[in-house]
Amino acid sequence: MIVMKFGGTSVESAAAIRRVASIVKARLERQPVVVVSAMGKTTNKLLAMATDAVEGRKEQALEQLRALRDFHIAEAAPLVASSETPEFEVLIHEHFQELGELLSGLAVLGELTPRSVDAISSYGERLSSRIVALAFRALGIDALHADSRRLIVTDKRHTQAAPLYPQTYARLSAEIAPPARAGKVVVMGGFISGSEDGVTTTLGRGGSDFTAAIVGAGVSAEEIQIWTDVDGMMTADPNSVPEARPLKVISFAEAAELAYFGAKVLHPATVLPAVEKNIPVLILNSRRPEAPGTRIISEAQPCKNPVKSIACKRRITVVNIHSTRMLMAHGFLRRIFEVFDRYETPVDMIATSEVSVSATIDNTRRLAEIRTELEQFSSVSVESDRAIISLVGGNIRYTAGIGARVFAALRPVNVLMISQGGSQWNLSLVVDEADLPQAVRLLHEEFFHELDPAVFA
Ligand code: ASP
Ligand code: MG
Repeated sequence: MIVMKFGGTSVESAAAIRRVASIVKARLERQPVVVVSAMGKTTNKLLAMATDAVEGRKEQALEQLRALRDFHIAEAAPLVASSETPEFEVLIHEHFQELGELLSGLAVLGELTPRSVDAISSYGERLSSRIVALAFRALGIDALHADSRRLIVTDKRHTQAAPLYPQTYARLSAEIAPPARAGKVVVMGGFISGSEDGVTTTLGRGGSDFTAAIVGAGVSAEEIQIWTDVDGMMTADPNSVPEARPLKVISFAEAAELAYFGAKVLHPATVLPAVEKNIPVLILNSRRPEAPGTRIISEAQPCKNPVKSIACKRRITVVNIHSTRMLMAHGFLRRIFEVFDRYETPVDMIATSEVSVSATIDNTRRLAEIRTELEQFSSVSVESDRAIISLVGGNIRYTAGIGARVFAALRPVNVLMISQGGSQWNLSLVVDEADLPQAVRLLHEEFFHELDPAVFA
């Protein structure tokens, strides 16, 4: 059994859904369970409508809703078999009617609770999963729809619910594994889930990858395939480094570092249920199904290149906190982090000396308040328009001379902050954002000049 997850762009149109059907058809002997995202940008649109409704723009919200309905009909109707057209019409009618009522209710209440956010945003996957199951049947796949809101059982932390694993795994193995083994292709919506008492919840934005991992773990799949619109993980962002190459294999730990540092291929939380059960995750391109993709496995494969990939994060702000009086008095770091914590601002990277601490943040919404509070006990300077570059690779820590190579390659670039050791897999630098393209190119040349064919495609 395998789990195949298709993201929003992979199911954004009739043509895209046909491509998905042919990809699934070619893998029927592996007993696929299919997880789909909402079609295209549906989730964003639903959330925008909810905001319009509560902020007094009900007519605008309802107009957007009509447009979303027309979009679903236009893309899905041609995919449905004529014998199932009545079912499709009822599906569209009921779902959009309910959505209209929900939006009108929100307009009256004028308040958007996390519970209503989940109720509204769930419709994207509720529709797409039913539509994909109908389309599969019309295209000759013996497909069955299953409601993720009953199968993925969560707590009630709306908009970022956490799965209750024992219940969820019990339901998945009782209800999904048997039909899959009997040759049925079960289609489920990603992202959506439900509490034990049946209230709709969601796993958080981008949560369909997480669903795929949970389902894979629940049915003990041999593999989880994440089908997206890129060739997998790359040695660098191909938009800034044209020579960037795909990685054939990477460890979970390395992939998590890359995901965190902006490589938007995979949601880091996806990793957990799959890691625990030692199930490999494959990243594949639904526009180029013949490409080998990237295989994410628990133990790193031996590799001649110490660096596997270069990730970066733009629009970083560095906060330098200089202690004049407290010179490493104990409690200085605690006070600093309490301030960031109080203003709910995550710190990505830190560097410390005897008298000062530098911290990077990417969310500057509360920066003015943070600064005022820090200035109660230190002097503060702020540098904006910085960028973090992360070299990721399981062998970085065990390879002598990496630092020398990094700094030699970056001779023309001013490096503002360095951090290694936070994890074994990551060496991070802060540079001026204006220097980023050049810095990444220089590092890429240095570390990917020759490639180990066992790891790079
Ligand atoms: N549709 C959801 C979102 O846009 C979940 C996903 O696509 O993974 O966040
Ligand atoms: Mg996604």
